[in-house]
Amino acid sequence: MQFTSDIKVNLIQKMGGDHMVVAAAKVSTDGEAAEKMAYESAEGKAGLINYLMNHRHGTPFEHSALTFFVHAPILVWREWHRHRVGFSYNEESGRYKKLEPLFYLPDRERLMMKIEDWKPGRPKFTRCESDSVFEQLCSNLKQAYELSYAMYEANLALKIDPGLARDCLPVGIYSGCWVTCNPRSLMAFLSLRTHEPDATQISYPLWEIEVAARICEQILESGWPITYKAFVNNGRVGP
Ligand SMILES: Cc1cc2nc3c(=O)[nH]c(=O)nc-3n(C[C@H](O)[C@H](O)[C@H](O)COP(=O)(O)OP(=O)(O)OC[C@H]3O[C@@H](n4cnc5c(N)ncnc54)[C@H](O)[C@@H]3O)c2cc1C
Repeated sequence: MQFTSDIKVNLIQKMGGDHMVVAAAKVSTDGEAAEKMAYESAEGKAGLINYLMNHRHGTPFEHSALTFFVHAPILVWREWHRHRVGFSYNEESGRYKKLEPLFYLPDRERLMMKIEDWKPGRPKFTRCESDSVFEQLCSNLKQAYELSYAMYEANLALKIDPGLARDCLPVGIYSGCWVTCNPRSLMAFLSLRTHEPDATQISYPLWEIEVAARICEQILESGWPITYKAFVNNGRVGP
């Protein structure tokens, strides 16, 4: 039995860059001549990319792709999988393989205590200052994980369908998934799954999905720096 607060996002492949945004947009006015832009640098094209972002001309941002391997607790997956458009998923099976006994425990720094005027829709939290509260939480989670995994193994020993045996497992168990998206769908995801007080629409995502989203954000920034800057400068509104 292993416990961790790590959430892993590994970049498997990356296709395209800012130059593809420029080339795809320019087919509109240059026709076939725009093709050469797919092989040129996007340097000096920040104005065009910013215009596309600002006017929500989103389709030129779809001509690139990113594939990640993400290892995260199922509580992250049930939220991530809600992003349907421009996302492709393949997840490890609980029917064809035994699930590993790896479970999520929060990091000590995770903000988790409800503030006084806590509201659904604007859920704000502060750090847990009490070691005993934090330890009690971890102890409760560990006990539940240990019992549920022991029951899972007991179910498997009955030689029943593993897809039924797993029914006792909690959302804190880890699962691995391949995720492919494009910069446009990724920006839509980032606008909802990161909290930025300066964003045009402020979102209040679950801590754990934001951890994953922030890693994706760094990958977007390094591969599509002009696009990323335009996204931030336009209030993190997806085009
Ligand atoms: C902070 C937060 C709290 C949330 N709380 C809850 C909750 O309590 N309960 C709950 O069920 N969900 C909740 N969600 C999930 C949320 O409702 C969305 O399902 C999720 O964020 C995916 O967003 P999306 O539909 O825009 O993404 P995608 O499915 O990727 O869609 C992208 C865009 O495509 C368009 N689109 C997609 N499908 C359709 C369609 N069928 N018809 C028309 N246009 C479409 C829309 O413009 C949409 O914004 C929450 C999300 C966040 C960020």
